[in-house]
Amino acid sequence: MSRLFSERFLLGLEPDERALVDTTRRLVRETIGPNADAVAQEDVFAEDTFRLLVEHRIIGTAFPRRHGGSDARQRLRIRLVEELGRVCSAAASLVTGADLSCRAIVAGASDALADRLLPALCNGSLQAAFALTEPGAGSDVRNLATVAVHDGAGYRVTGKKKFITRANVADWYVVIARCRDPLDTAGAETPARADDPFVALLVPRDAEGLSVSEPNAKLGWFGVPVAELRFDNVRVEAPMRLGEEGEGFALAQDALVRARLGHASMALGRAMGALEIAATYGGERNVFGKALGAHQGVQWMLADAFTQIEAARTLVDAAAQSYDRDDADAAVQASMAKMFATDLGMKVCTDALQLTGGRGYLKSFPLERFFRDAKLNQIGEGSSEVHRTVIGRDIVRRMGDAQMERHPCLPEGMLTTDF
Ligand SMILES: Cc1cc2nc3c(=O)[nH]c(=O)nc-3n(C[C@H](O)[C@H](O)[C@H](O)COP(=O)(O)OP(=O)(O)OC[C@H]3O[C@@H](n4cnc5c(N)ncnc54)[C@H](O)[C@@H]3O)c2cc1C
Repeated sequence: MSRLFSERFLLGLEPDERALVDTTRRLVRETIGPNADAVAQEDVFAEDTFRLLVEHRIIGTAFPRRHGGSDARQRLRIRLVEELGRVCSAAASLVTGADLSCRAIVAGASDALADRLLPALCNGSLQAAFALTEPGAGSDVRNLATVAVHDGAGYRVTGKKKFITRANVADWYVVIARCRDPLDTAGAETPARADDPFVALLVPRDAEGLSVSEPNAKLGWFGVPVAELRFDNVRVEAPMRLGEEGEGFALAQDALVRARLGHASMALGRAMGALEIAATYGGERNVFGKALGAHQGVQWMLADAFTQIEAARTLVDAAAQSYDRDDADAAVQASMAKMFATDLGMKVCTDALQLTGGRGYLKSFPLERFFRDAKLNQIGEGSSEVHRTVIGRDIVRRMGDAQMERHPCLPEGMLTTDF
């Protein structure tokens, strides 16, 4: 069967990677696509979808080989997430979320801790959640107020975390907090300060003093609920620290860069699906004596969306390769990919719904779900505004670098000369 969108990105994959894309396509066709609407009826954890993704080793792409995974390149993972995002946000989110919640464990756990937990997280018998955001710190994560006060050979954690995906099903939480010395007179009651080092800690669900709220009702992304966590003087042993003190922010950033590529490819997959649905409608629906899609205004809408999606796929693929090569600018590339693809995804879903008229607005039609789900990709893991700021700041910083090639029409001194 041929496809509307280009298959050229598959050319860069190895045969075993291509085989996993084919498996994912089959699951999408036979199970995940047909069940997507049922999964999205209620915001409860999509257990069956998760088990299916575990069984077919798609969740395992986020884990090292020695722990049962395949340590997949981002170049492959974005293809898998795109396939899933084309039909079901929950399925795509289970794949990106497994990586987000376990990445700091993969990158920062001691060998003993990794050997103990990662095989079970990879085979789905355990689950983790990534707890960074707080009531007072979302976009501005440096404003975190959760503190980890030194307590003998461990820490006492106090604070709140908000919007934590899978909090209600996770067995372990990766918690990003600020370290504080017990002799510090500020104590745990005072908000963390800018010079308190970040630390990443692994906290079990049954830790004394930890409470998990009921899931928060939300607009979309049903199947992956969010909830709040409250830490009230929770004791965490030192071996449960991921990386060193002071490395918590870097560990979180690495997980977030990968998650941004995930958001980008999920948004593009959904946009591709939305356009396929709208174009099919355009071909079959007759208005004013001819097919809707035979009208120039509709063709132009489809043409713009198709072209922009293909351009965005190229950007996301390049950003994934950048991450795989460990390029110095991989994080900025991921920001550009996330911002561009998720803003485009929202626009395409809006236009596709418009094109399908009243049907598009009905809950029984998939675009109503696509439209609601598209919004979160612009907010989670750094909103579009935050990425715009990151990219803009990077441009100005780099152009101010003495090693940066100056534009040939802008000789030294020109900017300080009076004309
Ligand atoms: C469904 C869902 C799942 C989530 N899952 C997780 C999770 O698993 N783990 C986790 O840690 N977090 C999670 N989050 C949190 C998410 O990452 C944050 O919601 C997001 O980072 C934005 O933070 P905020 O909501 O506090 O918004 P705020 O920081 O309050 O920002 C509000 C608005 O202001 C804009 N803004 C902020 N700064 C600027 C600026 N300088 N200039 C212009 N505009 C600006 C933002 O773009 C945003 O639109 C989840 C959120 C949702 C809704």
